[in-house]
Amino acid sequence: MGEDLLRRHRAVLPSWLALYYDEPIEIVSGRGRRVTDSAGRTYLDFFAGILTNAIGYDIAEISDAVRAQVDTGVLHTSTLYLIRKQVELAERIAELSGIAGAKVFFTNSGTEANETAIMLATQYRRSNQILALRNSYHGRAFATIGITGNRGWSASSLSPVKVSYVHGGYRYRDAFRGLSDPDYIRACADDLREVLLTTTSGDVAALVAEPIQGVGGFNVPPDGLFAAFKEVLDEYGILLISDEVQTGWGRTGEHFWGIGAHGVTPDAMTFAKGLGNGLAIGGVVARAELMDSITANSISTFGGNPVATAGAKATLDYLLDHDLQGNAAKLGDRLLTGLRQLGERLDVIGDVRGKGLMIGVELVGPGGAPNPAAATAALEETRERGLLVGKGGLHNNVLRLAPPMTLTDAEASEALDILAASLDAVNSRHA
Ligand code: PLP
Repeated sequence: MGEDLLRRHRAVLPSWLALYYDEPIEIVSGRGRRVTDSAGRTYLDFFAGILTNAIGYDIAEISDAVRAQVDTGVLHTSTLYLIRKQVELAERIAELSGIAGAKVFFTNSGTEANETAIMLATQYRRSNQILALRNSYHGRAFATIGITGNRGWSASSLSPVKVSYVHGGYRYRDAFRGLSDPDYIRACADDLREVLLTTTSGDVAALVAEPIQGVGGFNVPPDGLFAAFKEVLDEYGILLISDEVQTGWGRTGEHFWGIGAHGVTPDAMTFAKGLGNGLAIGGVVARAELMDSITANSISTFGGNPVATAGAKATLDYLLDHDLQGNAAKLGDRLLTGLRQLGERLDVIGDVRGKGLMIGVELVGPGGAPNPAAATAALEETRERGLLVGKGGLHNNVLRLAPPMTLTDAEASEALDILAASLDAVNSRHA
């Protein structure tokens, strides 16, 4: 039956739609941090969907909030009318953003959020030039694919946005690898200045950047990098847009937003994924002056709809009421420590990095070369033992661990045991 669904999937869905596993699974139910597939096998989900299920599965507070909206009979009418939950959610996010007098525009995805932010910045600055980090991923529509640096995800280079790339994304393998934190920051800031002088006319609209690259392999830059960037950007009046699609909502533990580690306030942040705990919602939070800078009418037919905003507001309440950011910090530290110990023992582990519950394990072969075969094998090994993890990175050789932020101590231990057994097996075949 699973095979039949895979055959039908391949017949009618695009060949480029990424699927995990030799035999892809169909998830049919979930509870807590666990999901069950159509063959009745249960897994601990250490990728939280794709960082979408920030809290987990079958959370009564969220289901009840969504159900209450469904029970009104109104799934959606129009965003041309007032929507109470949308206003309430925007108020919360504006306050949490730390951006003075912020305003929020809701979309249905991270791609649309970034497209909107790029549209706002290019209009506001009257420039179609954007800076981005090398190895970035920002979405799959025309402007966002145009500024995506990671070759594996750049489906098109025909976008009218003019992009220049700077260092600061993938420190483990970039040209400045091996430098101390202060030297790395200085080198990246100098690089930004040089890129501005040698590849742009100076009147660039914005730097769009992920504080920790997601698809690019959970790459953590040194704290303070974005402060050094901002100093340069401010000289030119260039905006800073933080793509918080993966790093928002406290997932990184120390701070509510990934950019918090750098001690700067951006002009805008984009968000999606975890906010709806699985519901389709994203958006932009920006300085009011920037947000209100377009004068033509605009709308998102479904962005900020009653069902999504009801679920998102319940998600945000839950995140804050249960201090899931604190839990992410605590259990993230435990996982990082356990994985680093494992890394000392196994040659196949080249790097363990992360913040909070956003942890990357880069797998290598002889001489430290990227080892994508080991990552593919690790995915199969972990799945066999009842654990779902993510994969990514420029070379497709990074395991990405990002469980729901409600993770318990016992589940962290269980995952560490499975990862140890799985990577032991991979190490013996692929190191
Ligand atoms: N920005 C980042 C950092 C992402 O990781 C993603 C998706 O993985 C996106 C934007 C695009 O979001 P979506 O897939 O919801 O369009």
